[in-house]
Formats: sequence, structure tokens, C-alpha cells
Amino acid sequence: MKFDTEAEVRDFLRLCLEPRPGLTRTPARLAEIMPGPLFEALVRFAPHLRVLHDQVEEQEKAARAARRAYGAALAAWIEDEPAREDDALPPTLCEQNRLGDKAEPQYHHYRRDGAGVLRCVFCGVPEGWGDEPARGYRTPDGREWMRAAEDDERGAALYESPFVGTRFTALALEVLHGSIEDVETPTARTFVFKERSVNRTTKHIPSPTNHLLTLCRDVASRPMSAEDAARLALCGGCRKEFLDSLPLDLEAGGYPDTAYADLP
Ligand SMILES: [Zn+2]
Ligand SMILES: [Zn+2]
Repeated sequence: MKFDTEAEVRDFLRLCLEPRPGLTRTPARLAEIMPGPLFEALVRFAPHLRVLHDQVEEQEKAARAARRAYGAALAAWIEDEPAREDDALPPTLCEQNRLGDKAEPQYHHYRRDGAGVLRCVFCGVPEGWGDEPARGYRTPDGREWMRAAEDDERGAALYESPFVGTRFTALALEVLHGSIEDVETPTARTFVFKERSVNRTTKHIPSPTNHLLTLCRDVASRPMSAEDAARLALCGGCRKEFLDSLPLDLEAGGYPDTAYADLP
């Protein structure tokens, strides 16, 4: 099957909607079962469908996490255990990926980083962050405590540090040291203003090949702090250039790589 032209992809998709006379499939069902290579061919001609597809994935992931949190909180209530802070529903929106006049937060946009970890390309949050127990904590003395193989008798994650004989829960570490920091605290990407912009209500992404320019090809300011960036909407032009420049990541796309013959 060749997908070199828009017409070829469209014809094949039409065929998928009606594989045989009398047998039809809804577009929604087709979207669910579309194999990876066909999806990649499709979004080459219709990039807006990748954006929508990614939003669907994020919302489904958020719904699964919310359902797990709800189940855990329900179980705790039945056992008459006090509600814990980490029973709260996990945040699902990205504080850096904001759009529009009101700088409304959008979903995270995950891609695999150099180390193979799925991370949001805007705020740096690893997928599932805040959902699973942290892999490790840093205490103010600079010591790192990594997740031990075993949990404590009540199922809370335990953390250990070299040359320390005792393992502690995150809560115990926090009580003992005053504050702890997740070793995987994400780093947001760098954002800039347009140098000549007067009111500075929009942030931009610097070009990876020329840091004096924004991706939307204007003169870039010095980088702003992540805190400032988290309050501002991202320029639509920079956002599109940036997302279009990301390498394809079939795994993050989430479609099983089935043969067309396997289509139900
Ligand atoms: Zn994000
Ligand atoms: Zn821009």
C-alpha cells in the first residue's frame, strides 16, 4: 500500500470505512484502530489531526489517573484511614503550555528524551509524575534517597541512601529534614520575549539554530525565568513550528503497530 499522496491516503481511509459492501465502520471506530504507519501517513497531510489525537491520549491518561486516585481514596475511606494529600487528583494540565488571551493551560506534550524517558517538551514533567511514588528525594544536606526495593508494612514507599542503615518513607524524610526535593524535579524549556515587544504578554521559543531569533522569526530577548514563563501564553507560531519540528515518536503516539490485515 502506497501513501505518497493525499489522494492515496484519503482513498485508503475511505476503504477502511467500508471494507466490504454492507460492512461499514464509523470514523470514530477507525480512529481507535488506525495502525501506526497509516496514522503517520495521515498526519503528514493533516497535522491538525495529530494535535487532536495527542489531546485525546492525554485526556484518556488523565481520566485513568483520576480513576485510580478516586479508587485509592475510596479504599482509604472504607478503612477509615485519614485522607492523604497524595490522594488528591493529579494535575493534568501543563503550566508552560498555555494559549490564548487568558493563557489557558493546555495538555502536556510528551516525547521521549535522550534518556528514553517520556517527558513534556514544554515543562519537562515526566509522564506519570506525581502519580507514582517518586524515584528519589534530595534532602537539604545534599544526600539523595532512592526508592528501596521494598515498601513498609503499610505499603508506603521507602527510600534509602548509601551508608545509612535505616530506610525512611518520604513523609519521615520530610519531617526529619524540614523539606525534601524530588530528584526528578522537571526543568522547563527556555522561553524568551520578542525583544521589541512592548507589553510582553506572550512568550516565544528561541530558535535552536540561532538563539537571537524566535521560532516565529523575530528578534529574541534574553531567556525569562521559568516562573515568569509559567504565567504567559505561548505564541501560536512558535508552538506550531516547535511541534512540527519534533521527531516522530510512534511509541508516544500509542498506536499498536498492527498490519492492515489485522484491522477488525
Ligand atoms: Zn507540560
Ligand atoms: Zn513566537
